[in-house]
Amino acid sequence: MIHSVDKEDLLIGISACLLGEKVRFDASNKPSTFCIKEFSNHVTYKSFCPEVAIGLPIPRPTIRQIKKDDVIHVSRPDGSGDVTEALQLYGQKVAKATKDLSGYIFCAKSPSCGMERVKVYNPEGHALPSNGIGAFAKVIMEANPLLPCEENGRLNDMVLRENFVARVFAYKHWQKLIATGLTKHKLTTFHSQYKYTVMSHDLIAYKDLGRLLARADMPLAQMADEYILGLMTALKIKATRKKHANTLAHIQGYFSQHLKANERQELCDQIDAYREGLVPLVVPLTLIKHYLLQYPKDYLTNQSYLAPYPDELRLRYSY
Ligand code: SF4
Repeated sequence: MIHSVDKEDLLIGISACLLGEKVRFDASNKPSTFCIKEFSNHVTYKSFCPEVAIGLPIPRPTIRQIKKDDVIHVSRPDGSGDVTEALQLYGQKVAKATKDLSGYIFCAKSPSCGMERVKVYNPEGHALPSNGIGAFAKVIMEANPLLPCEENGRLNDMVLRENFVARVFAYKHWQKLIATGLTKHKLTTFHSQYKYTVMSHDLIAYKDLGRLLARADMPLAQMADEYILGLMTALKIKATRKKHANTLAHIQGYFSQHLKANERQELCDQIDAYREGLVPLVVPLTLIKHYLLQYPKDYLTNQSYLAPYPDELRLRYSY
């Protein structure tokens, strides 16, 4: 790891039902195996059930999103028991009290916690084609556009899971940097450490971020704000097999002159095998790390791309 994080210091917000708490409308839960059994070894959760927090009982009548006069309300299907404002106010309270979060995992489809594609109905009870956002989740996400957010269902997709976890650790790295007092030198060093990470998501963003840091006419605080927004936005873009293979080829180019002919060929073969879908990303990466031990290069060793999060999460083993 280029930056170590104690489990106690890495705080993740989460919908309480995903941790197994029986807080749903029917007194059930929605346990997420990944959240409970794997991610929990590396992070500390702060769980929230907004519906219970605003005083709704367990069990309780179902609520849904209903669009009336272009405004979305959260209420019972017959329109009674409108809790929209209560959920929003609770969201504001949580957002203010949790500036130390480095990520949030929401429960999908919930009218309160859903991050996207929440069903919206008209007052007559017919589903509308528009997709809603949970009333609580919307406030949390709008209060901090940098916060890495994901839903339980999407975390079953290994590419999306890896993307979320990588964003969480990158954001935590940034939070730690800010906490120690930012300087231009620290910002530039941070950027250079994320070169290959950003490249594997969006090469244009890497160049844009570099140009931003080269500007002499911008106050540091403004530059930092624009930088981290640009970085977190770029990291949301999926890192495809093709983009990873190109990134690996760049890394190889950085130290290939030190490799013997057979080593260089072996690495090329593994990168090609990864590009063609024959081996997972961990294979060429392991070889690169092996050669880096033999031919150390600080610039590469410090790259977040080579150790974006704890290896035990095994996120690069299946794609
Ligand atoms: S989805 Fe949100 S509101 Fe619904 S039970 Fe889970 S935590 Fe509570």
